[in-house]
Amino acid sequence: MHCSFCGRDETEVQLLMPGMEGCICNECAERADEVAKEYLRNISKATVEDIDMATLPKPNEIKEFLDQYVIGQDTAKRYLAVAVYNHYKRLAQHSQDDGVDIEKSNIIIVGPTGTGKTLLAKTIAKMLKVPFAIVDATVLTEAGYVGEDIESLLTRLLAACDYNVEEAQRGIVFIDEIDKIARKGDNPSITRDVSGEGVQQGLLKLLEGSVVNVPPQGGRKHPEQKMIAVDTKNILFICGGAFEGIERKIAQRLNTHVVGYGAGNHISRLDREKLLHFVAPQDLRSYGLIPEIIGRLPILTNLEPLDREALRRILTEPKNAIVKQYHKLLEMDGVELVIDDDVLDFVVDKSIEFKLGARGLRSIFETIMIDVMYSVPASGDKQFRLTRDYAEQQLGKSNFDMLARAQ
Ligand code: ADP
Repeated sequence: MHCSFCGRDETEVQLLMPGMEGCICNECAERADEVAKEYLRNISKATVEDIDMATLPKPNEIKEFLDQYVIGQDTAKRYLAVAVYNHYKRLAQHSQDDGVDIEKSNIIIVGPTGTGKTLLAKTIAKMLKVPFAIVDATVLTEAGYVGEDIESLLTRLLAACDYNVEEAQRGIVFIDEIDKIARKGDNPSITRDVSGEGVQQGLLKLLEGSVVNVPPQGGRKHPEQKMIAVDTKNILFICGGAFEGIERKIAQRLNTHVVGYGAGNHISRLDREKLLHFVAPQDLRSYGLIPEIIGRLPILTNLEPLDREALRRILTEPKNAIVKQYHKLLEMDGVELVIDDDVLDFVVDKSIEFKLGARGLRSIFETIMIDVMYSVPASGDKQFRLTRDYAEQQLGKSNFDMLARAQ
């Protein structure tokens, strides 16, 4: 038996797969797979559709859509809606050649963790007409070091549109945790900063718009893979980061500013959390982003910390709110779930007490409901009423306090 493609026999290859008329060896099969993918990639190129402005959702419609899933964060939602809409406009503009080029406006969103950055990105992805990918900046390192090359940021985007390069070239990439590539200190040290400034320089290339070679399978694990050239000129980048401690930089700047104008020191009276409102490009610079990167992210907006009222709304209002999910889960067992109002206050209070924010709401709720979820389906009950006493007791008997404090 021998491979009908390369002629080698079974002693020369690892695997020989028999077919109707002949055989194929593992290496020829792999090669055939590559050729087929390349071919399909090329024919799918022809399918890029023109953007038709008339059928696109307007900024207010985009925001209304976001409102269904994300509570509050109005400013960020408006910025996002406009950015996405303008992105479509840029893509549509090539039909009118009047010499006015609409430049792209990449965005940077600053906000404490757990306030909805990723949720906003994921939600907007649901309604986009262009490919979209969420990537994480924490894995990036300078070329030649352990970690991922900058170009791999685009691998996901390519995957999101079945490696159709033309489609990918007009997509949107959300880069999470951009603050993690900030320069670590003000003094350039003798030890190399492999995940800081070097990465920012690399990222700059992508933001500015250039043709980069993207490894289609990502990473450096497949050195033999054929790179795909992608032009980033029309790709919109949305960056998000918690920038922990940036309030201090903002406060410093505002203080000197205010004192400089003899207006007295009223910043100290400002709520620390409100300081994020005043975030400006200089603060990102003090935090360790290089000025060139900041220049390429002209739209800067922030997310609000979630207050008690917002947390309470998150429990019940979004389309897939936790409470709605539990109603549905029990309904599927034929059980009606009735939740006393003060239970929701209790869950919110605990999440605030343990400093868990919106992420804590789910884990607290799950801890409270675990016994019910276990026993109710077999009990034959038609209704379960969740009272505050029961919730307190459930949370008390779990070791939630200890776990939360240990974090
Ligand atoms: P981050 O800002 O760290 O990216 P996420 O978007 O991942 O935070 O939020 C974590 C979880 O908290 C979300 O999955 C969601 O359930 C909830 N959440 C956070 N902020 C909001 C919000 N504004 N509206 C609704 N849910 C939210």
